[in-house]
Amino acid sequence: MSVESTDPEPNYRQLSDDVFDRRIADLRGRYANCDLCAYECYVDRTAGREGTCQVDDTAYVSSYFPHFGEEDCLKGHNGSGTIFLANCNMKCVFCQNFETSHEAKGDPATAEDIAEMALELEAKGCHNVNFVSPTHHSPHLVEAIKIAKDRGLDLPIVWNCGGYERAEILEKLDGIVDIYMPDVKWSDDQAAAKYSKAPNYWSNVTESLEEMHRQVGDLRMNDIGLATGGLLVRHLVMPNHLDNAKRVVEFIAEELSEQTFVDIMAQYQPYYKAKTEDFYGEISRPITQKEYEEVVTHARDTGLERLYLDQSMLSERPGITDLF
Ligand code: SF4
Repeated sequence: MSVESTDPEPNYRQLSDDVFDRRIADLRGRYANCDLCAYECYVDRTAGREGTCQVDDTAYVSSYFPHFGEEDCLKGHNGSGTIFLANCNMKCVFCQNFETSHEAKGDPATAEDIAEMALELEAKGCHNVNFVSPTHHSPHLVEAIKIAKDRGLDLPIVWNCGGYERAEILEKLDGIVDIYMPDVKWSDDQAAAKYSKAPNYWSNVTESLEEMHRQVGDLRMNDIGLATGGLLVRHLVMPNHLDNAKRVVEFIAEELSEQTFVDIMAQYQPYYKAKTEDFYGEISRPITQKEYEEVVTHARDTGLERLYLDQSMLSERPGITDLF
């Protein structure tokens, strides 16, 4: 049986043109007084690069390609169809993509251009369209999804963000995004302010997670293990910040669902400013196996049943509930 015949239709294929058009108009209007993310800069992006994200009312794409570095349920055999947007609404001092996220390396793209990129990725056999750092470009992206839908796009849409969202804006994506994939970085607001320049991150990310989960529920997969819809949470374990990680997994288990699919990531490296500035000494090294295992043990203890783990960082055999 083919994947196409067993997969449900992506959300956005059922959304009427009227609703799409109203959402696009609402989102586009926000460029003039921008509140698209939790920074709530209220600047006029039609006049230039005024806000914290340093992007005007143009979308910029740094690259797009089938990506084989994502979770197995996204990359499958043919890759996740990633479209990397330039700049970011967070300013992490350890960003591994800082040329794209902080230095605006990207080319201007219209909604029409982005729709064509999505269709090209679908033609290459990608299993989803995965918008990376989408938040500050959401008006263009929603318009691109509508154009691509009208031209036949039939893949799940992945919203691959840093979690520094606003629930009011996420509501405009209801019925459009199929898979939310926030990278929940901090439960410790002091750390969030210091290392990601994101004030009040925890209250914003928890509200956003609740809205995402309300919209799409727990992650669902088809009969060959490809994600078709739902919430996939990532957390990158940071050196010297184990309590931070533990509170993240506790919140997910207690306030969302023990069935939440959680990727606990171990690949932290002190990129960008984290390796050069003494001020960031606490995060100037990779994590240890002991640190990773402590977080994983805590995650299991919370009752989370769908953990996606880095086996190379575990000394024991995986638990029966661990996926990989
Ligand atoms: S997207 Fe966020 S960071 Fe950028 S201008 Fe709008 S509110 Fe500010």
